[in-house]
Amino acid sequence: MNDVGEFLAHAIRLESEAAARLGELADSMKTYGNLEVEAFFRKMAGFARMHLAAARARAGWTKVPELEESRMAWAEGDSPEGMAGEAQHYLMTVDYALKLALEGEERAFAFYDQVAKVTEDPEVRALAEEFAAEETEHADELRRWIARQAETAP
Ligand code: ZN
Repeated sequence: MNDVGEFLAHAIRLESEAAARLGELADSMKTYGNLEVEAFFRKMAGFARMHLAAARARAGWTKVPELEESRMAWAEGDSPEGMAGEAQHYLMTVDYALKLALEGEERAFAFYDQVAKVTEDPEVRALAEEFAAEETEHADELRRWIARQAETAP
């Protein structure tokens, strides 16, 4: 991926799906009455929206192509920070919700990290490295919550 516009198109798609999914996870935690984890997911959704806003602002002076499903640079028909829709139909426990959110952050990191490693465009590399570093922080924070959950669970 050597075009800033193409990178931004992917980042915008990835982050808007991530924000939506994290919002859904927050909603399901609310349903189960876990307001602490709900608030945490809302905060994570806010991070995704901040990434989205950063990518959109950058795209303001870049030509961003429309991405068709078949042209997306990730393979499985789902963006890296999203998660399989059917997974959400299972009974949503706190553990499972945290695990799904972590998988989303890890896939997002893997996507940005891969772009950073293979791109020949210095601007794309700088952006991808910046986004990858933030996804690492998100994943680390989720791992802390998962560890804490494991300690406090009955
Ligand atoms: Zn993230």
